[in-house]
Amino acid sequence: MTTDLATWAAERGVKYFMISYTDLFGGQRAKLVPTPAIADMQADGAGFAGFATWLDLTPAHPDLFAMPDPASATQLPWKPEVAWVAADLYMEGAPVAQAPRNVLKRLVAEAAEMGLSVKTGIEPEFFLISPDGSEISDGMDTAEKPCYDQQALMRRYDVIAEICGYMLDLGWKPYQNDHEDANGQFEMNWEYDDVLVTADRHSFFKFMVKSVAEKHGLRATFMPKPFKGLTGNGCHAHISVWDKDGRNAFADKEMPFGLSAEGRTFLGGIMKHASALAAVTNPTVNSYKRINAPRTVSGATWAPNTVTWTGNNRTHMVRVPGPGRFELRLPDGAVNPYLLQAIILAAGLGGMRSKADPGRHHDIDMYREGHTVTDAPKLPLNLLDALRAYEEDPELQAALGTEFSAAYLKLKHAEWNTYTAQFTAWEHDTTLDI
Ligand code: ADP
Ligand code: MG
Ligand code: MG
Ligand code: MG
Ligand code: MG
Repeated sequence: MTTDLATWAAERGVKYFMISYTDLFGGQRAKLVPTPAIADMQADGAGFAGFATWLDLTPAHPDLFAMPDPASATQLPWKPEVAWVAADLYMEGAPVAQAPRNVLKRLVAEAAEMGLSVKTGIEPEFFLISPDGSEISDGMDTAEKPCYDQQALMRRYDVIAEICGYMLDLGWKPYQNDHEDANGQFEMNWEYDDVLVTADRHSFFKFMVKSVAEKHGLRATFMPKPFKGLTGNGCHAHISVWDKDGRNAFADKEMPFGLSAEGRTFLGGIMKHASALAAVTNPTVNSYKRINAPRTVSGATWAPNTVTWTGNNRTHMVRVPGPGRFELRLPDGAVNPYLLQAIILAAGLGGMRSKADPGRHHDIDMYREGHTVTDAPKLPLNLLDALRAYEEDPELQAALGTEFSAAYLKLKHAEWNTYTAQFTAWEHDTTLDI
């Protein structure tokens, strides 16, 4: 494992480090540090004014120090003289409790105490759009069912292959790229790993996709629902839990769908906290235009609307695609990479401890027959519903950390209030002649 960043840089010709941290709203914040200064920064951290980012700190707080985690150091494949390194936030020598990467690391340590390591793979979807953000970038990409459209995929070969090539070089083991269900939408997949590795890669992937798209004169967006009527950007998470002997504790071929008794309890935790979970997995006002959405042009939203699970059927919140893992289809492209993994652990480990029961599985087409399910809660209809569900879930709040939960709720409520202060064209149109 990498330890000394100065030596690491010298071996690779790295001239600058981006010491990067992720705030509560998922923003990536960095200082660009020249290599001759990295040894001091590795010892003491890079200084930031916390109030200037979304961390619920005031201008009066002392300096925030971002301590680079050398294990995450990644040379920018498109600019190899620069390396990105994820950092953990400290203030006056103590970890900042609400900082997303710290929240995740605490939960990873809890899993380790239980003798477990959680591994996940994510499926980040994104659109390639015009630089001004008004339309998709490919005027010929107009099919009603554009999923897997080979012609449209190959018109964006230069962007997709460049990113995939970088992932191959970085050793992420990418294995497929496709055109997704909306015009202008793509998905790229790489192999699952430990949650902290997946969270760092998820962050870096977003940075890389945006950077490469810009290099090609385009723009990439992970916004949950950037275009009305088109399928939105999901960020499904596939989850499995492994024991000390490297055995997949979720796999049991004798159980329904191949999901072990332990796996069912982890799933039970996810099902129990689902509505509150949405405050993190679907963190923006726009997120709620993806879930609970009316049918899209392609015929299906591919997003859930109810807290249900099943086997290999993509109309539910949770799908068990095969033995040894399950897929949470709730998260969207706006999700904070660290908080996504943290909330999966918080809910899932709690489920394992309390031996939570996931309830019965509904093996139906939820888009056609969802109205027949009366024993499962509907997912929150908007961000405020989700924040309130989170407020009403002290167990989940405690699992993620009381400081984190208070800070997150405060900032997200303020965001919601900013939103409700907007005057929309819709209310003008529908209310003017009242
Ligand atoms: P989908 O069929 O949902 O579109 P994808 O192939 O796009 O699936 O993505 C599947 C993700 O699940 C990948 O990141 C893959 O590495 C991951 N995955 C596969 N097996 C496991 C497992 N046992 N635990 C966690 N993640 C897994
Ligand atoms: Mg200054
Ligand atoms: Mg996929
Ligand atoms: Mg997809
Ligand atoms: Mg999926």
